[in-house]
Amino acid sequence: MKRIVVLGGGESGAGAAVLAKVKGFDVFLSDKGRIDGKYTALLEKWGIPYESGKHTEELILNADEVIKSPGIPLSAPIVGKIRDAGIGIISEIEFAGRYDKARKICITGSNGKTTTTSLIYYLLKNAGLNVGLGGNIGKSYALQVATEHFDIYVLELSSFQLDNMYDFKADIAIITNITPDHLDRYDHNLENYVRAKFRITRNMDKDDCFIFCSDDEITISHLDKIVLKAKKLPFTQKGEVSEGAFVKDDKMIVRYNGGECDMFLQELALGGRHNVYNSMAAAIAGKVMNIDNEKIREALSSFQAVEHRLEKVLSVGDVLYINDSKATNVDAAWYALECQTRPVVWIVGGTDKGNDYTPLQPLAKEKVKAIICLGLDNAKIHEAFGGIVPEMHDVTSAADAVNTASRIAAPGDVVLLSPCCASFDLFKNYEDRGRQFKEAVRNL
Ligand code: ADP
Repeated sequence: MKRIVVLGGGESGAGAAVLAKVKGFDVFLSDKGRIDGKYTALLEKWGIPYESGKHTEELILNADEVIKSPGIPLSAPIVGKIRDAGIGIISEIEFAGRYDKARKICITGSNGKTTTTSLIYYLLKNAGLNVGLGGNIGKSYALQVATEHFDIYVLELSSFQLDNMYDFKADIAIITNITPDHLDRYDHNLENYVRAKFRITRNMDKDDCFIFCSDDEITISHLDKIVLKAKKLPFTQKGEVSEGAFVKDDKMIVRYNGGECDMFLQELALGGRHNVYNSMAAAIAGKVMNIDNEKIREALSSFQAVEHRLEKVLSVGDVLYINDSKATNVDAAWYALECQTRPVVWIVGGTDKGNDYTPLQPLAKEKVKAIICLGLDNAKIHEAFGGIVPEMHDVTSAADAVNTASRIAAPGDVVLLSPCCASFDLFKNYEDRGRQFKEAVRNL
């Protein structure tokens, strides 16, 4: 019996182990850290042997194939040993793709993955299709392939998930945009990161579609260098395209296969220029999937923002509080500031990932009346905005941030949590930061 070893016991690994078991492999799962009780229960339910707190080499290096969870870096010593032993390493997505005949719509990019994935899932589900959602979001794709049946999957794929994909093929692939992020995992080499993102287009042929932002220079310059058989469907806010999507006056227009769908930008449920991009990408996918224009419009105008992404929390004393805790890089914060039409009290800071704040300076000058630094080390933020924004404060808790902001904000202002940084200095993760922020707003 072929032996499959799964490295990592989170959502992805546990799901892959279940699928391997269902397919009749000899399965073993190994996690160097602690495995959450939810996943040990799942493994036990399926009778899958596992270990936590260690990697026992004798139980790993006898594998025929290893499925590596995306959270484990290629530089981990055990990964090196597996490679030295000549054992193939694949991702959960690659493995599950072998057993899945559903049509696959796959989304990657630096920002906007979750929003675009959720929009497309919502659109297809509302149109009555039998569609599953997975990848980097919600339930593991492999677990669903093992235990459910869908005709279509909408999969969010991070670049880490794309790293170990070889034969997997998307029917529709989307790259939302590419801006430098997570470069630490790619030897600080942008080209490696871009190539990892473009793995989403591997194996695509002429009947498949590639949807991308033609305003994104990094995407375009890479696209010029590669041979891609898939039909190319760009979306842009600069000029018209014969196929794809573009903005004309106050409308978004989608063209595909001789058909056209248009919609007033004002009707889009999600505000901000970045969400016009995300909505265009989703609408193109909808057209390719043959969804009626009316259904596309209905979905794009009724979609509820995903939690922690420009999520409107509450209006208190005519001050609107917005939770954009997921904005963990400069580009995301740029779009958050760009779409504000009212004076902003901006809560920013956290673990700096080597940010260059320069692109944010003009927007800060134009829109931000006060900055509240929510982080342990705020020196770079003071340096970047000290001379530009009249008022700056330092705080170390979400409650302090909200209370300070509420004292400064006047009726008609916006208090925007768009931190531009990771959260690990003061919070467990970005969700924890967003929830503490919302809790503090509700307590005002
Ligand atoms: P991802 O899953 O790629 O991290 P999300 O949809 O979770 O993307 O959004 C992450 C952050 O990026 C949020 O602050 C959101 O407002 C912002 N954002 C969403 N779409 C885009 C886009 N197309 N371009 C730039 N920023 C975006």
